[in-house]
Amino acid sequence: MLELVARIAELEGAYRTFVVPGGQAAIALIYLALCKSGSHALVPASAYGPNRELAEKLLQRLGIEVEPYDPLIGEGIGALIRHNTALMWTESPGSITMEVQDVPSIVRVAHARGVPVALDNTYAAGVLFDAFAHGVDISMQALTKYAGGHSDLLLGTVSVKNDAFYEPVGTAWDLLGMAVSPDDASLALRGLQTLRVRLERLERSTLQVANWLAGQSAIQNVLHPALPSSPGHVFWKRDFTGSASVLSIVFKDVFTPTDVDDFVDRLALFKAGYSWGGGTSLAMTYPYLANGGKGFSGRIVRLNIGLEEPDDLIADLHQSLRIVGDQIKK
Ligand SMILES: *Cc1c(COP(=O)(O)O)cnc(C)c1O
Repeated sequence: MLELVARIAELEGAYRTFVVPGGQAAIALIYLALCKSGSHALVPASAYGPNRELAEKLLQRLGIEVEPYDPLIGEGIGALIRHNTALMWTESPGSITMEVQDVPSIVRVAHARGVPVALDNTYAAGVLFDAFAHGVDISMQALTKYAGGHSDLLLGTVSVKNDAFYEPVGTAWDLLGMAVSPDDASLALRGLQTLRVRLERLERSTLQVANWLAGQSAIQNVLHPALPSSPGHVFWKRDFTGSASVLSIVFKDVFTPTDVDDFVDRLALFKAGYSWGGGTSLAMTYPYLANGGKGFSGRIVRLNIGLEEPDDLIADLHQSLRIVGDQIKK
């Protein structure tokens, strides 16, 4: 356990790291460490769905108000900060809709008003974006994704910038009994041994698939931070050292949500699945995505690219797109 804590702290350049039972546990721990009854917190509308659900189904009951904000708001965030704002969440890129945030600007405005900033750094695996160098106070990740790497582990970490955050996070971690099994920690250590080669391969394969998809006539937009058409691409280019294995595609509006479901059903190599970061490529539709009205009405599919041959993945996407495309012409 100490080994894992030390490795993640080193990877993230953190003062201290806590290991918790999963990414969602990490999110809950950060809320409970920094907020109290009467607190207000801000969370990007593009945040991981269960973060918002935790706010609506549990924190609200405890008197904590969590307000969603436009992930691309940048310095405009200042207008949403209140006297009781106790926590500013960032998540970059956002889940499903992939907006890359101007984290340094948000940090600057938040810190000027005394508001701490937390980052869900799962996409970057603590590697592709340096949270602490960009001013973030608390960085969490779901080790479930890239550190685990084999879709057989649930684990998370919360890393802090300094003692001022170590103390409240550590106290809440201890009181909530967020300890984890050493067997899980050893699986994460095993995953870290291959993290670098997996991230390199996944980045290359994902870019190949994303660029191919961007040239397909059925697709309105490919949401992948390294593509200029993706929201917040300029911030990715400025602040990140690479890209990872998740992307989303938005179908043109001649396609119905049923067509899009059909597209996913007809994929053979891609399996249906919500999670990501493992060796298997996955596809999932999001018909009920909210994200402040920018939910794409059931025409968005999130893909996780795995360790298969990218040419085979493209062939699989191609055959399914062709069938679904032919159907709408009839
Ligand atoms: C998966 C995920 C989580 C939650 O992680 P679990 O370990 O599954 O609880 C949190 N944030 C993001 C961005 C995720 O993708």
